[in-house]
Amino acid sequence: MGLVTLKEILKMHDGAVGAFSTYDQYSAQGIVQGAEELSLPVILMIGSGPLNKPGNDYVGQIMVQLAKEASVPVCVFLDHSKDDKTCLKAIKLGFSAVMIDGSHLSLEENIAITNKVTEAAKALGVSVEAELGALAGIEDGEEVKQAKMTDPEHVEKFLSKTDVDGLAVSIGNAHGLYKGEPKLDFERLQTIAGISGETPLILHGGTGLTLAQFAKGVELGIKKINIGTEVKKTYIEAFIDTHEKNVSSYDMVEIPQACKKAVAEMVKEKLEFFANGWRELV
Ligand SMILES: [Zn+2]
Repeated sequence: MGLVTLKEILKMHDGAVGAFSTYDQYSAQGIVQGAEELSLPVILMIGSGPLNKPGNDYVGQIMVQLAKEASVPVCVFLDHSKDDKTCLKAIKLGFSAVMIDGSHLSLEENIAITNKVTEAAKALGVSVEAELGALAGIEDGEEVKQAKMTDPEHVEKFLSKTDVDGLAVSIGNAHGLYKGEPKLDFERLQTIAGISGETPLILHGGTGLTLAQFAKGVELGIKKINIGTEVKKTYIEAFIDTHEKNVSSYDMVEIPQACKKAVAEMVKEKLEFFANGWRELV
């Protein structure tokens, strides 16, 4: 199947597609492997912070190559770029979707930067995700203290003036690990879903939400769920566990393999629930 756009992948089944953050070759391989074992589509994403680190263009190239060779549909996605420059860089690397995050800007400025990126992306057949309202928490080391819930009135105006393939919403979800039990404003989500029509809605900050919350979100129209922190946690825990079993071996062959396998197992569990399992909880 190989590399597909965000627009295409979000139409492939009735549930939501999992989008997982990657940081290196092994996490990327684990994510694709998990999807292949279930024959389900997957979104392989990297944040603009990690992509812009020295030498990490190669991680982007690996992601595109893995997608092209995959037996399942894979969308290669740039997560949270605040500038058009990084979006253009990802498009050059062969990514099939980019997120321009103007959620920290005024509505008018957000519309303007989204349209600027969309114009360049669409000319090359690349999908675009935007965001309205801001999430609290830490994304790639950058902290946002105060969440700003998505205003349904802004959704109407934003979507009438842009042409995006997905819209990320802020309904109480947060990046990083939740402090206490997360509370999601499903009434707000329902209102937004009534306005957004054909534009798929996206839920960021998936790590730490309950299965019941995922299920309710998908039922109300969430088509893509972002998982970042859980990839890191799974990878690092597998790294430490495997290393501690034989500390003196410093096993650079088996440790990354164990990390890859652990990521694949976590991805399988999430992908299956987002695609099918959620139905049993609504
Ligand atoms: Zn996010």
